[in-house]
Amino acid sequence: MTIRTRVAPSPTGDPHVGTAYIALFNRIFAKSQGGQFILRIEDTDQVRGTAASEQQILDSLRWLGLDWDEGPDVGGDYGPYRQSERGDVYAEHAQILLDKGHAFHCFCSSERLDALRAEQMANKQTPGYDGHCQHLSEQEVKGKLAAGESHVLRMKVPEQGTCVIDDMLRGTIEIDWSQIDMQILVKADGMPTYHLANVVDDHLMGITHVIRGEEWINSAPKHKLLYQYFGWDMPVLCHMPLLRNPDKSKLSKRKNPTSITYYRDAGYLPEALVNYLGRMGWSMPDEREKFSLDDMLEAFDITRVSLGGPVFDQEKLSWLNASWIRENLTVDDFAQRLNHWLLNKEHMMQYLPLAKERVETLGDFVPMVSFLYAGMLNLSADDFAHKKLSEAEVKQVLQFTLWRLEQQREWNKNNLFDAIKKLANAMGYKLSDFNHPIFVAIAGTPNSWSVMESMKILGPDMTRARLRYAISVLGGVSKKEGKRLEKAFKTLG
Ligand code: GLU
Repeated sequence: MTIRTRVAPSPTGDPHVGTAYIALFNRIFAKSQGGQFILRIEDTDQVRGTAASEQQILDSLRWLGLDWDEGPDVGGDYGPYRQSERGDVYAEHAQILLDKGHAFHCFCSSERLDALRAEQMANKQTPGYDGHCQHLSEQEVKGKLAAGESHVLRMKVPEQGTCVIDDMLRGTIEIDWSQIDMQILVKADGMPTYHLANVVDDHLMGITHVIRGEEWINSAPKHKLLYQYFGWDMPVLCHMPLLRNPDKSKLSKRKNPTSITYYRDAGYLPEALVNYLGRMGWSMPDEREKFSLDDMLEAFDITRVSLGGPVFDQEKLSWLNASWIRENLTVDDFAQRLNHWLLNKEHMMQYLPLAKERVETLGDFVPMVSFLYAGMLNLSADDFAHKKLSEAEVKQVLQFTLWRLEQQREWNKNNLFDAIKKLANAMGYKLSDFNHPIFVAIAGTPNSWSVMESMKILGPDMTRARLRYAISVLGGVSKKEGKRLEKAFKTLG
């Protein structure tokens, strides 16, 4: 049997280091046994998914050297590899489940479901669908469908008993069926949910081993049931431990940059980042900390994955990166890497016209542009002091700007300017006052060219990371404060 594994990212945001981590282990597992590694794009969420995000995922995984044998851009025998192009396949399989009596139409309104949920919560029950539409007669269903009533398709789930899941790393896991919801398989807009599309695709694409994050364990019973309903063998499951912040909470961008592009632009080497991800829960048999993708491939043994939550610590990553630079690059290589990174004419042309208008001597140039190369700036709370804005206001401006820019899709100077100007107006600030903390967060000083130009050049991930860092320099936002701010932010519209 040829081993076939896959990584199946949803293109809904920054290319996450967690995606690279899962891709790495899938790729190594398959390649260490002569197998194949597939990349599938799970873009059934058409509201949140974007083509730009998909491209960034492909680019950043490739930058890390984690290329794939089959995928949306390279093709393969089991395509298409983008779920949005497989609508017919899911419709056909949804029909099979209906015909076999394993799924049913559900016409419940969101009001009914909200009320049901509130009642279950009040009674301290596990919230979930109560099976209301499962008992509609064939006649009733036909009538509602003919009348064009909005509906979803749900899977039937046993009411009693226990589901036993086998996991390569965790052994057997038992989950009571009473904890498992009658999952929606096809949404009201006709799109499949993750569960249906994922199971159908894993089967049709011949996936033998599903290696994914532990946050998916609770989905495994639904998947097992779907495999049974279709009469298919289930791939072997392996749930990897989640990456964590140094304080052991789940890795989050609020505490750690999580975007691969951030690490690329901050000047980390791909071999160092892959090496570091390889150490997340895994170790070489000789415990050596520094190893290449090839070293890992040669020594790989999945049973060496340990389940204690691996901590993604930027300081350790920087230490490892330094060691790759010092020990593995000649000075010539170093020059080449810098050039390949951002010290090249193409990149510089973005800001040379701005710098040319501002320098008096050529010697002014490097200090003036250094912030564009600096990763995270070295700032203190005093740098944000402003004659009109209190520290609390500064923090609020930064937080609101961050939230606003997290929604920003089109990343060009005009769109950024519009977004920020609107926000300043809505909050009742003069743009020059409002911009002060943003300048400091992005450029380290208010004396720079338009901060929108800088944001454009730095790109969304670095811009947002700097705003987050600025907020943390000002003491961060507590949960309570965050809730209050979020409310205020929402009222701005
Ligand atoms: N699309 C899912 C994700 O974004 C894939 C989960 C899985 O591997 O089954 O992580």
